[in-house]
Amino acid sequence: MKSIEKEMIHKEKEKIPIVKKKKKKKEILEKFKNDDLKQEVLLRIPDGEVTTYTQGSFEDLCRGPHVPNTNYLRFFKLAKISGAYLGGDENKEMLTRIYGTAFADKESLKDYITMIEEAKKRDHRKIANELKLFTFDEESGAGLPIWLPNGSRLRSKLEALLFRAHRKRGYQPVRGPELLKSDAWKLSGHYQNYGENMYFTTIDESEYGIKPMNCLGHIKVYQSDVRSYRDLPLKFFEYGVVHRHEKSGALHGLFRVREFTQDDAHIFCMPEQIKDVIIEVLSFVDKIMKSFNFNYEMEISTKPTKSIGDDEFWTKATQGLKDALDENKIAYGIDEGGGAFYGPKIDIKITDALKRKWQCGTIQVDFNLPERFELAYTDSNNEKARPVMIHRAILGSFERFIGILTEHVAGEFPFFIAPTQIVVIPISEVHNEYAKELTNELMDLNIDVEIYNKNESLNKKIRTAEKQRVPMILVIGDEEVAQKSVALRDRRERKQYNLTKKELFKLVEEKLDEVHF
Ligand code: ZN
Repeated sequence: MKSIEKEMIHKEKEKIPIVKKKKKKKEILEKFKNDDLKQEVLLRIPDGEVTTYTQGSFEDLCRGPHVPNTNYLRFFKLAKISGAYLGGDENKEMLTRIYGTAFADKESLKDYITMIEEAKKRDHRKIANELKLFTFDEESGAGLPIWLPNGSRLRSKLEALLFRAHRKRGYQPVRGPELLKSDAWKLSGHYQNYGENMYFTTIDESEYGIKPMNCLGHIKVYQSDVRSYRDLPLKFFEYGVVHRHEKSGALHGLFRVREFTQDDAHIFCMPEQIKDVIIEVLSFVDKIMKSFNFNYEMEISTKPTKSIGDDEFWTKATQGLKDALDENKIAYGIDEGGGAFYGPKIDIKITDALKRKWQCGTIQVDFNLPERFELAYTDSNNEKARPVMIHRAILGSFERFIGILTEHVAGEFPFFIAPTQIVVIPISEVHNEYAKELTNELMDLNIDVEIYNKNESLNKKIRTAEKQRVPMILVIGDEEVAQKSVALRDRRERKQYNLTKKELFKLVEEKLDEVHF
């Protein structure tokens, strides 16, 4: 690749013009009669005029457009080489594809190269390995993450914070079964529209599908009681474990897996409540994203080709989403045809520290499932009415969100979520007792704390804690034992100072108190 780059730079200096030509397809077929690959490509092009681009003595088929000459290619970087089948057909010849990006100026190219290098350092799979967060095991299956103690600690803190945040907003925790009969999936439309992504099994001669979404379980919760307009909106949430079949080539760390847990909720409301419900969800999203210093943007996805429900429903529901965003003065893009098969949606796209964009949560309006399952409530005139169902996930999945967060903070998790928040290091054995006492007290304050009292040098123990990116290290020696104090090394604030035990407890309580979703 280096030598190709060199040649490109050489050509760039020559400022060779790139000339577009329109020719008859017949003429081109003749010109390239000894080139099998071009003959193949020409087969796919309709008869008539064909465009080519010429650069010096080199001529190739291309639809264009192109820059006027090779001097325009001054700021570029070739990224990688991969194999690609001719026309995407795996029975055809394998060709070599070179990926590269060109920029308008030197500064943008430099930023891009820094970004690529930084992204490599921040790769969540690499950091997960260093911090022992999670792993994958080919023997147990691709795309099935295995959460190690450190990763589980981080995750459970996130779950606990989020649980409280849901309760505060009037959501009720529920849990549906992991498997449901295929008949239920047929009624919901998942079987017909999402079946290729589902896993099925047979129990007592009936076919069951492993849930790829949690909607059905929550519908069953709704149906478990008689509902009145006074109960609405009803908000059910679940950390729902779902399974989806992803092609093995698409699997990538925690970003794309076959089993994951959604922070999923379904809100059942009256049609006139849609806008308010969505506005409340948007403020929930804002609170969470700000806590992690993520910027985000929204996108509305409209009716896809494979869909259920009539046009009137799609228009009404899509308008509801637009109204909520407009009223909140939130800018949004439109993804034509990108909606779920049962309704339009708002996608939440977050921007990380490297300015990369990630699709995370969604908010979806659904009139279809309530119809299919004949959901009802008694309205104020004592008549039966149909509720609307709003599907929403804010993180999207714990797996993906933690993967993104890991790269966003380069493994330097904020105190409130760090796997180990504090490490206590007694300088020698005589300090163990005080270290233990301190640790117990910190645990009572809900702090994840560990003692490093292995027979190693103080420096080595500090280095180990730093490598683990632990936010706070407390060193305990004679003086600290005598004074009931600690020597604190604050990694996030890059400060070292002495504190009394009382001051320390106040400090950590304040740190935990900083974050409310
Ligand atoms: Zn759902």
